[in-house]
Amino acid sequence: MNYVGRFAPSPTGLLHFGSLLAALASYLDARANDGDWLLRIEDLDPPREHAGACASFPTTLEAFGLYWDGELTYQSERHAYYQDALQRLLENGDAYRCGCSRKQLLERSGSTVYDGYCIEKSPSPDKDTAIRVRCPDTATRFLDLIQGPQTFDLPNTAGDFVVFRKDGLFAYQLAVVVDDYLQGITHVVRGSDLLPETPKQIHLQDLLGIDPPRYAHIPVAANSDGQKLSKQTYATALNLEHPVPQLIEALHFLNQSPDPALVDACVDELLKWAVTNWKMEQVAPVLQQIRTS
Ligand code: GLU
Repeated sequence: MNYVGRFAPSPTGLLHFGSLLAALASYLDARANDGDWLLRIEDLDPPREHAGACASFPTTLEAFGLYWDGELTYQSERHAYYQDALQRLLENGDAYRCGCSRKQLLERSGSTVYDGYCIEKSPSPDKDTAIRVRCPDTATRFLDLIQGPQTFDLPNTAGDFVVFRKDGLFAYQLAVVVDDYLQGITHVVRGSDLLPETPKQIHLQDLLGIDPPRYAHIPVAANSDGQKLSKQTYATALNLEHPVPQLIEALHFLNQSPDPALVDACVDELLKWAVTNWKMEQVAPVLQQIRTS
């Protein structure tokens, strides 16, 4: 099997140290396995887009020496594929329209786990409705290449989940599954904040008759208060002028013990060392890790 990996940022902000970890780990694992590494911009949600973020992603990755293979893809140009998958789920009876708001659900059941209210009600497609997928009856299990064996109880923690939003946008879960499949992704290496989304993606793959890729979730970086670095918490954007120290810090975070002599290396030499010496088994099997510097 030819390895195909990817980095799939959403343009909700500029790339920061946490993004660099996901980009670097997925890049190194792909290159160390003689694989391809794709870049896909997940611009599915225009209202949450940060001006200039889309354009900054390729430039930032290039400044860090992380060159991708093939064409850069944008989810905003791939709606027809998501629509096809949605249609299939509806036709097979695996998905249904839902007109409930989060507030109505909370008032009815005191929980955000969907109670199935619209299964019988079948709201008209002409109204603004979301589309939900029926979740499995049983627990979902999979082996994460970093975090080990995983078990998620979707029926009691998520319930039937949204694949098309009431505001007319495709949900991340659907688009990511369709694209990982159509782009032939064999390995998904990303932050552990997405670990709880993985069983939903595995379930969708199952409904669509798709083989799941292998998953590896790296720890997310937190500041000393234990707060996760994210675009939403205004994590500092990567500094394009000095990529080497940030790459070295990312390698330390991923437990790759970079050779101290690399401080004087250029980006390409540093990445060459990192590909040759990449050991995924050294990445700590924890969900969160404090960023030390
Ligand atoms: N677009 C998602 C994000 O920026 C990542 C999707 C993925 O790697 O599956 O958080």
